[in-house]
Amino acid sequence: MPVLWLSDVGKNDISIVGGKAANLGELLRLEIPVPDGFVVDARTFRDFINRANLRSKIYSLLQNLDVEKTEELNRVSEEIRKMIREAEMPEEIGKEIKKAYKKLGNGKEVYVAVRSSATAEDLPDASFAGQQDTYLNVKGEEEVVKKVKECWGSLFTPRAIYYRVQKGFKHENVSIAVVVQKMVNSEKSGVMFTSHPVTGEKKCIIEAVFGLGEAIVSGLVTPDTYVYDRLSKKLLEVKIAEKKFMITRKNGNERVELGEKGKERVLSDDEIVKLVDLGEVIEDHYGKPQDVEWAIEGGQVYIVQSRPITTIKEAGEERAELEEAGKILLKGLGASPGIAVGEVKIVGSERDISKVKDGDVLVAVMTTPDMVPAMKKASAIVTDEGGLTCHAAIVSRELGVPAVVGTKNATKLLKDGMLVTVDGEKGIVYLGKLEVAKKEEAKPVSVSAPLITATEVKVNISLPDAAEKVARETNADGVGLFRIEHMILSLEKHPMKYIKDGEIEKYIDLIYNEMKKVVKAFYPRPVWIRTIDAPTDEFRAMKGGEDEPIEANPMLGFRGIRRDLAEEMHLRAEMRAIKRLIDEGYTNIGIMLPLIVSPEEIRRAKRVAIEEGIPLDRIDFGIMVETPAAALIIEDLIKEGIDFISLGTNDLTQYTLAVDRNNENVAYLYDETHPAVMKLIERTIKICKEHGVKTSICGQAGSYPHVVEKLVEMGIDSVSANPDIVHRIREVVARAERKIILEKLRKLQ
Ligand code: PEP
Ligand code: MG
Repeated sequence: MPVLWLSDVGKNDISIVGGKAANLGELLRLEIPVPDGFVVDARTFRDFINRANLRSKIYSLLQNLDVEKTEELNRVSEEIRKMIREAEMPEEIGKEIKKAYKKLGNGKEVYVAVRSSATAEDLPDASFAGQQDTYLNVKGEEEVVKKVKECWGSLFTPRAIYYRVQKGFKHENVSIAVVVQKMVNSEKSGVMFTSHPVTGEKKCIIEAVFGLGEAIVSGLVTPDTYVYDRLSKKLLEVKIAEKKFMITRKNGNERVELGEKGKERVLSDDEIVKLVDLGEVIEDHYGKPQDVEWAIEGGQVYIVQSRPITTIKEAGEERAELEEAGKILLKGLGASPGIAVGEVKIVGSERDISKVKDGDVLVAVMTTPDMVPAMKKASAIVTDEGGLTCHAAIVSRELGVPAVVGTKNATKLLKDGMLVTVDGEKGIVYLGKLEVAKKEEAKPVSVSAPLITATEVKVNISLPDAAEKVARETNADGVGLFRIEHMILSLEKHPMKYIKDGEIEKYIDLIYNEMKKVVKAFYPRPVWIRTIDAPTDEFRAMKGGEDEPIEANPMLGFRGIRRDLAEEMHLRAEMRAIKRLIDEGYTNIGIMLPLIVSPEEIRRAKRVAIEEGIPLDRIDFGIMVETPAAALIIEDLIKEGIDFISLGTNDLTQYTLAVDRNNENVAYLYDETHPAVMKLIERTIKICKEHGVKTSICGQAGSYPHVVEKLVEMGIDSVSANPDIVHRIREVVARAERKIILEKLRKLQ
């Protein structure tokens, strides 16, 4: 089937239709008005080169090519493109394309855009943006067929060939689909940033001209600019430019002088609202601010293209420069921001840990707690596996070390001693040392400029040794999550082993000492200590961990409160350590139970706490809401008597969306702002508020400004963020609160 209609494709078809077509199909599914069109998919291109006997010719030419020799590169490129141009288009394919073109124009010859949409078999989301050709204003069936072939040929421009070699893509694995899309003969057109392109604020910026969008792209016409605040739903700014001419289509593009009309405002208020509404749907769908091209024809708004904005910067960093500068070796998830240069040290086993010296880049399949000392020395961390909430991600954020996780093959591709630059925000590892202009890094805010917010802004802690520094530098209002498993997993042996060896007192001593570092550092600010929550695969790595069950899905397995209740001695030991701290006067403690799914778990854990002498009237006792079950039966959980809940969006997202949070293969589906997750959150906050139960968040989403803003609107009592972003979250909270107050005042007037 050589031709697919755009309305029939979506993101799951990226490997056959390429990112561009899949994206347009996705928009259509959201009922976004996109100009109609079809795709000649990538299988058709393969079919074409096979039938024309070009496959072996093309790839043997490429195999022997040294792309650094420009003349040779140009010669080979031209040779391949000529072969493609001159090869006969198989009849059935040509027929199908012509038939689709006719249907597109309802029998009439319409103007279409013929765009390349490259695909990579093994890396469906690889970006080849701008690498291949696009032809606008194409008309007539023969012309369309010809341009499809030209797009195919553009897979072999010198630039495209060079790019693939440089980025390590196999030529054979990259194919090309071609989108044929009706051109809008627009009266008005332009671009829209759904959020502010630099600060990321929810301010929509629209640029508009009369006629076709090429006027903006060419830079020859200054467009009108409109700024619309999506939160207050107000048009903040209207700048009307003098638009000297417009471009229209008659026989090809034509310039028409505008005279007095050029001084008129292009967009009406209604049109702006319509565009903003569409932009919001698109941004929500992708979970990222978008750069959208739009057009209006006959009063109908069309979205022509949408891609994520890549310019949103933290603290004025010039990352674009970096991207251009060096060869990209690897891509993964940016897990801890910052840029660092260092020598690669692959850490495969315990033995390798000592190899890591100050300033090295630690590379591992996944980090483990016994690597923490080496992680402290490292200038950056890179892992094969993991998502944004894996061990490496959490610990490196806490240490302030840039990290890239989920690269799939860092341990294979990188070699000991290699010099690399790691961009922990974008998730890229570059070869060599890249000169990056020294920037203002996002440092924890200084204590001298306190910003008071009604919503408390707390911090997450996993490494007790870092607590004092974090307490001082972030000035956080407390610890909203103290993950004790990291310190327990770095002990000499498995907790059960201590218990079995008759050394329970020693175990309690050890965890008491570590806990004390945190409650002391933050005293009198509250510290919510969470009972242990580590999956069996992490426990197994410890000495004495051989007996851990082997589970197919540790994330769904023997972890969290269910484990502490099944092996009650664990829980008792934790309670005894906490009791000792309370007896010493550290009443700034809260106890938090992870992975709750039933009231009975709370009841039983509470009983253990009381039996161990914990004065529940003097300290806070609460739960994590991190399963859909907890969110959906929150009323029943509240009845058990809890002081607070904390939203664990890391788990809540994985359990709601059926996406293993540590599985890099499905990381693209992991979205904490998915409407289903947001609904569970909203419901939980609302019901807790009705019952006087404090609400908080300690999942990674509490470190995302756009989520925090929503949570403040929902009335959350506190937000607990990663140490590196506490200051920024405090600003976001302050602004959101101010907006709420202003809104209320306005209503009173
Ligand atoms: C969560 O699930 O959101 C959470 C904070 O807990 P953890 O990441 O430790 O599972
Ligand atoms: Mg969790």
